Amino acid sequence: MNNTKYVYTFGGKTAEGKADMKNLLGGKGANLAEMCLLGLPVPAGLTISTECCTAYYANNCQLPATLMDEVWKGMKNMENLMGLKYDDADHPLLVSCRSGARTSMPGMMDTVLNIGLSFKTIPGLIKKTGNPRFVYDSYRRLIMMYADVVMEKAEGIEPADGKGIRKQLDDMLDEYKEKKGYKSDTELKAEELLELAEAFKKRIKEVLGTEFPDDAKAQLEGGIKAVFKSWDGKKAIAYRRIEGIPDDWGTAVNVQSMVFGNMGDSSATGVAFTRDPATGENKFYGEWLINAQGEDVVAGIRTPNPLNDDTKNEQNKHLKSMQELMPETYKELCEIRSILEKNYHDMLDIEFTIQEGKLFMLQCRVGKRTGVASLTMAMDMMKEGLIDEKTAVLRVSPSQLDEFLHPILNQAEEKKFKVLAKGLPAGPGGAVGRIAFTSEKAMEYHKQKIANILVREETNPEDVEGMRAANGILTARGGMTSHAALVARGWGKCCIVGCDDVKIDFEAGKLEICGKSFNEGDILSLNGTKGWVYAEEIPMAKNTENPLFKEFMKIVDKYRTMGVRTNADNPEDAQTALDFGAEGIGLFRIEHMFYGKNSEKPLEKLRNMILSDTLERRKAALDELEPYIRESAKGTLKVMNGKPLTFRLMDPPLHEFVPQGEEQQRKVAKERGMKYEDLKKRVEEMHEVNPMMGLRGVRLGIIYPEITETQFRALFSATAELLKEGMDPHLEIMVPLTINVRELQNQKAIADRVHEEVQAKYGIRFNYMFGTMIEIPRAALVANQIAEVAEFFSFGTNDLTQMTFGFSRDDVNAIVHKYIDEKIIPADPFNTFDQECVGELVKLGVERGRSTRPVLKCGVCGEHGGDPASVDFFFRAGLNYVSCSPFRVPVARLAAAQAAIRNA
Ligand code: PEP
Ligand code: MG
Repeated sequence: MNNTKYVYTFGGKTAEGKADMKNLLGGKGANLAEMCLLGLPVPAGLTISTECCTAYYANNCQLPATLMDEVWKGMKNMENLMGLKYDDADHPLLVSCRSGARTSMPGMMDTVLNIGLSFKTIPGLIKKTGNPRFVYDSYRRLIMMYADVVMEKAEGIEPADGKGIRKQLDDMLDEYKEKKGYKSDTELKAEELLELAEAFKKRIKEVLGTEFPDDAKAQLEGGIKAVFKSWDGKKAIAYRRIEGIPDDWGTAVNVQSMVFGNMGDSSATGVAFTRDPATGENKFYGEWLINAQGEDVVAGIRTPNPLNDDTKNEQNKHLKSMQELMPETYKELCEIRSILEKNYHDMLDIEFTIQEGKLFMLQCRVGKRTGVASLTMAMDMMKEGLIDEKTAVLRVSPSQLDEFLHPILNQAEEKKFKVLAKGLPAGPGGAVGRIAFTSEKAMEYHKQKIANILVREETNPEDVEGMRAANGILTARGGMTSHAALVARGWGKCCIVGCDDVKIDFEAGKLEICGKSFNEGDILSLNGTKGWVYAEEIPMAKNTENPLFKEFMKIVDKYRTMGVRTNADNPEDAQTALDFGAEGIGLFRIEHMFYGKNSEKPLEKLRNMILSDTLERRKAALDELEPYIRESAKGTLKVMNGKPLTFRLMDPPLHEFVPQGEEQQRKVAKERGMKYEDLKKRVEEMHEVNPMMGLRGVRLGIIYPEITETQFRALFSATAELLKEGMDPHLEIMVPLTINVRELQNQKAIADRVHEEVQAKYGIRFNYMFGTMIEIPRAALVANQIAEVAEFFSFGTNDLTQMTFGFSRDDVNAIVHKYIDEKIIPADPFNTFDQECVGELVKLGVERGRSTRPVLKCGVCGEHGGDPASVDFFFRAGLNYVSCSPFRVPVARLAAAQAAIRNA
């Protein structure tokens, strides 16, 4: 015998549940119970637990044998509280049957209202209300909803598009109104509604083969089953996938006494937020409709009236507010607002109904809000004493904070347009502008102050200036750590990569996206935070400097224990990061001086070095290159004065810097006074089948020690010169792509020698730190040995992910997408850190490294350093700092503070 209790009653200022029982009763059920306990006017009801849903599915979609007995007992309680009786000819009680999962899944599951209306109960209700029109209107609504939810969807019937029963009945209603010359439903008379209801029932029998049940008891059981069944509906499943809600949670069912907002002009229904969900202002914000049922407000058939003066706007200011028309009830609602906020310590989203002047609460839940609103509310509520500082820090999600840092598409406007195509959300914010197919065109537009979107197959280092000049970037190929994505995020630029639907025909000067064709100069809008592309011009929104933001970040830093650094390789980016609160640079990629603005000269020297065929020539070329590296280092060290700056020795395969293609090669050969054939041969010699696994990282410095020597000399000289100028440079040097301690010993010997030489030359003594990146699984495994030389580790999780998965970080997109679709992997590991394995390597590396050197400083500088969920992991792994793009710094600070609070 099954003794599990499935039914929990509520009503009359008491309840068997409460707010913290969401897992069992679902959000709606738990909050209805809580409102009863708070003494608020809630129509009596009962909640069938999520456990019952699980049992229902475990039992082949059969309700547990004991359930309906429990339900009827619970219904008795409702009848007593409401003074009505279910399935009674004189005083009939009607109920609604609604879903309610642990977290809200708005509109994804089904609801049936007005259950209990039958030929037995209709006359009693008419007598009681004296309002036959209302009764028949409720009846035809019940038939429509019941046929759709219980008789079609729950039975698994899948009609052809546009042939669903609901659509057929809606069409019948429209035809009927047209025949009568009515514009609105409210013009239908009682007997006409009855006639319609009869026609509906006939059609249902024809189409679905079964009769609409005229039996209140059968209706209720059918309603309960249908709500459970809707947990497994297509919409609900798709929503769970997106939101990551587990399938086994199940939904609860709430059976609640009906109250009616459609009983005439003293009745109404409405929804409200206890504070403005868009701005966060402490203003009661809502909409209501007189003589209507809840679905009318949500469906948007009528323009709802403003709740109060604070809610009036251009569209609704001519409509009367509840404050004006029902001042007494409005006052009561305001009191409820205050009781709810004091109890939940948060902003609530509520639904209410007024039946003949009496107010009832039908729902409350913590309300969704914009990023700006979440921060405003957190700060306000903290000052009001509703929440403490830690709670305020936890209230703003890192992704919401992002809204403050980038211009975005106006969200209300964006909703009006259809998404044309989707790609990877590589750089946040929004951008609207004219299409540029080349970097030159983007720069030309930029000069003319014309906003533009650079659209490319993929981007490579030569596009950097065009990318800088563009307001947004869209590429057909590339992943989250592709070149375009890295650069864009570094600048906080809106960028979408890997948008497979982008087809560019350069010859024809045309672009096609999902069958729509564009010319250069046409407009596109991008939502880089979501990865969405639009064909229309969508207005932008500016997040103006918000002093609350600064105040909030101060509190955030109070609770943060892990450091936050930035990845930057020029003074401007370093300054941006400092302004955002960075405490140092965790990754300065020396090679970035060879890309983009002012790179011609150093690039020429670098090419000379690469193309040199003898050691002497190479050294001569390096001597010419050194001052450029020194000046580049000095510039950023100056900005970072007093804060640590980690220079990473040159990492990329050298062939990236030699000219590709005959035209370029001929040009460079000519400039260098070299024969084209010789240059071509040299370039061919450098060709590697797997450049990512070839001559790059520390291997460059082992094979060509003179290359690292030059870098060391430049960095030490920069430091010495700044010290002489009275500045306070904190130099850290790190070696990339290490596999064992011998590599480090090899490089450290050069560094120490050059260090001595430079100190002697400048007549000054100074220290530096020597460390390594951990980017290859092998290095994590022998971290105890590596730490004998390395004073710090910086985990390069881009390469570590590449090497652990064996996925090429540059072009594995299509495979990763397929893998995600097939549920072989949960997410793109270049985007969402793989805690299971790459994470294990990080933890192991830290542990083993510190077993040798307990004070070993450990950080991370891969792209995951700015990802909030990863930051939480890095905190737990005991890292000293994370390093991320300048624009991610505030997000990482918040994520680090939240990690510290959560894991305390
Ligand atoms: C990394 O591999 O994580 C890293 C930071 O280095 P890069 O992206 O320059 O290879
Ligand atoms: Mg790397």
